[in-house]
Amino acid sequence: MASTQPACTADEALARLKAGNARFVRGEARFPTVQKEILADLAKGQQPYATILGCSDSRVPPELVFDAGFGELFVVRVAGNVLGPSILGTLQYAGAHLHTQLFVVMGHEGCGAVSAALASRLRGARQKSRIEVLLRNILPALDDLDPTLPADELLSAAVEANVRWTVSRLRETPEVKARQASGSAMRLIGAVYELRSGRVRFLE
Ligand SMILES: [Zn+2]
Repeated sequence: MASTQPACTADEALARLKAGNARFVRGEARFPTVQKEILADLAKGQQPYATILGCSDSRVPPELVFDAGFGELFVVRVAGNVLGPSILGTLQYAGAHLHTQLFVVMGHEGCGAVSAALASRLRGARQKSRIEVLLRNILPALDDLDPTLPADELLSAAVEANVRWTVSRLRETPEVKARQASGSAMRLIGAVYELRSGRVRFLE
């Protein structure tokens, strides 16, 4: 649930970012990160092993969820893990230039963007203008849901439907169709992250 109070002021937040980066540079990061030699090696170039399209939600950081290090994941994060011109361009870059073979669209339980899209669909709830534009990418995913489900089950179903919708839209792009027709080993898969358990459920 979004709070109406900020966690801290902008100046405090900037100070936290600077202090965190200083810990990182000193090799005293709270989370295991990388050695200086690995940073120097990665500075020469990247070869991530997978591309993840995830949500901006602060509770779902892909690198931590997948215990992946620097240089291992190419990540796009946008509220509701939706598509859009810049996101499609980023994904195309991952395929064409970084040659990642695996693309994961990862939604998560309790997604605020999906919840807002549901409220719009079921109750005509309105959001600020640019959020409305974002939600338009989610609304078509909600067409086949059963609105009589209990609220939590409905949101879970909507989260999964939104992931499947994004995956199906990607499959329909000329680039993905061409790669699959050419027998490319590229794989595109959906996933849902469970907030409480930390488990990622892949939608095989
Ligand atoms: Zn979300």
